[in-house]
Amino acid sequence: KHMKIAFIGLGNMGGGMAANLVKAGHEVRAFDLSAEALARAKENGAQTFTAAGDTLDGVDAVVTMLPNGKIVDDLYTGDVIGKAPAGALLLDCSTIDVATARKVADAAEKAGYPMVDAPVSGGIAAANGGTLTFMVGGSDEAFARAEPILSAMGKAVIHAGGAGAGQAAKICNNLILGSTMIATCEAFNLAQKLGLDPQVFFDISSKASGQSWSMTSYCPLPGVGPQTPADNDYQGGFAAGLMLKDLKLALAAAQSAGADVPMGARAEELYDEFAKAGNAGLDFSAIIRTL
Ligand code: NAD
Repeated sequence: KHMKIAFIGLGNMGGGMAANLVKAGHEVRAFDLSAEALARAKENGAQTFTAAGDTLDGVDAVVTMLPNGKIVDDLYTGDVIGKAPAGALLLDCSTIDVATARKVADAAEKAGYPMVDAPVSGGIAAANGGTLTFMVGGSDEAFARAEPILSAMGKAVIHAGGAGAGQAAKICNNLILGSTMIATCEAFNLAQKLGLDPQVFFDISSKASGQSWSMTSYCPLPGVGPQTPADNDYQGGFAAGLMLKDLKLALAAAQSAGADVPMGARAEELYDEFAKAGNAGLDFSAIIRTL
């Protein structure tokens, strides 16, 4: 069924996602604070508006792709909840903290709006190509309504559990990713210092128990393993600054849940130093350069 969908936050990720909703035949009503982002959305077939509230007229659903939890909270509680049509489905695809995701979903549900948190795995290329993976938190009913909308923007849509479960899955996954990337970089550095040929080490470790996605699919050393950002001078890929953001969210969640995350805490420190040294825009595997 073709729907009327408000889309707020048309940046690196949201721009391509909104375009894929248009391609799927939906009527997209777009808003972003950036005039440039709005102009691009218009070129891609969305109707554009100069205030968030103006996008809401008659919509079946509201999708957001915004930088952080504070902005998401302010937007939903200030502009959307109580103002969108009764019963409209709310989908926040931003990566934000679990606590804010639960707080906003609770306020939405109390006002009669089913809501899902649906953060994504996959970068800008996956957003443009419609091949994102969505990890979704919310009720069974909200998930059932969200699924067809998210499917138009991704290749996989997974129900993780109740409100906040999508964010929890995302940050726990990236907690592993941050630690395994640094561990893989360490091992390549040591292997070379011990006189091992890095390609030989890759061939062994990628088939042995040192195997992980960071090793096998995203090898941080240029010229070794599959084509990765390392082969493109660490341009593109998943920015170190975004890895740092996700590690900070994981640490905050761990603190409030009383979970011990010593490896994640060290990974956060190392990515923080790396970002502060001016490397936030490089792919996160470039941290190998610091060893
Ligand atoms: P971005 O900064 O490119 O886009 C965010 C957009 O939101 C900007 O265009 C900005 O103008 C707009 N915006 C900010 N406040 C607003 C407001 N109050 N009202 C309307 N528009 C507003 O960021 P991005 O890379 O597109 O990331 C968006 C989200 O996706 C983040 O939560 C990020 O962590 C997550 N994410 C990003 C990637 C990636 O590779 N870039 C991958 C996975 C998840």
